[in-house]
Amino acid sequence: MDKAMEERMRSLGALAATSMIRQTSDILHEKGMFTVDRFFKLAMGEQGLPDDMEETNFCLNWVQRMPMAKSDPIWHELAAKHLPELVEKWRTETLGLITPVSTTINTISYTPYFVRFIKSPAGQGMAALQAKRAADAAKMLRSASENDVAQVFQFLSTLLLLQTDVQFGNDVDPEIVQRLLPLLRFLNRKPEFANRLASEASERVLCVLSDRARDQQMRPLLPMVKATLETPLKTCGVRNCRSTAQGKELMKCSRCKTAVYCSTEHQRWSWPDHKKLCFAATF
Ligand SMILES: [Zn+2]
Ligand SMILES: [Zn+2]
Repeated sequence: MDKAMEERMRSLGALAATSMIRQTSDILHEKGMFTVDRFFKLAMGEQGLPDDMEETNFCLNWVQRMPMAKSDPIWHELAAKHLPELVEKWRTETLGLITPVSTTINTISYTPYFVRFIKSPAGQGMAALQAKRAADAAKMLRSASENDVAQVFQFLSTLLLLQTDVQFGNDVDPEIVQRLLPLLRFLNRKPEFANRLASEASERVLCVLSDRARDQQMRPLLPMVKATLETPLKTCGVRNCRSTAQGKELMKCSRCKTAVYCSTEHQRWSWPDHKKLCFAATF
């Protein structure tokens, strides 16, 4: 077989595999494999580790292969209904740094529900706690897999971004920061992690926590990442409006208590789209 033919066969094979994975995840979804209830029970540790961890990862892997139009409603509903219980469970977790509940909260941390929760009194101190746990597990993290390191620091970077102000003040104990910095520099430069998420996530955290100029190369990007997460809570939900209604309060959707609008008219316009991700919030 000539080279071009071989190349074509390979890409056809990859295409077939992708479509099979997509179809399988659709079938599993239709069979009710990935319900909010199931993710919640797994996160709360009904079966005990390691069964819950294995099953959580199994389900997450499949949901991540679904189109966002199908996975977004699952994560938004889970966040709207269960964030207070999930975070309480996470705060009292004694099973380690990577558990079903931490993995689940990390997965839903991109939703506007989470952004609103973490800014409420019940969300205070999450970044400081995750930073302390990472510092306490420094020895383990130095030899942890790429996946585990990526997960721990991706979560910490989201928490830090949401809980620090634009000038990057944060409430992480300086003693914890001093213990984390050498670990973060080590992970960021670990040759096996080059161009991988673990390296990027460690760099993001390093960039927020360190005041050394050479650790801060990514800093100009951070306000943009922070703004992307916070925009849905601060600007009118109509995409072409995005009004911040300076001076007067925006109207809040009474069901999800998360989406905001500049007028009843814009709220009505946005409903056909918004209703897919609007769930009655328990907080
Ligand atoms: Zn709503
Ligand atoms: Zn508007």
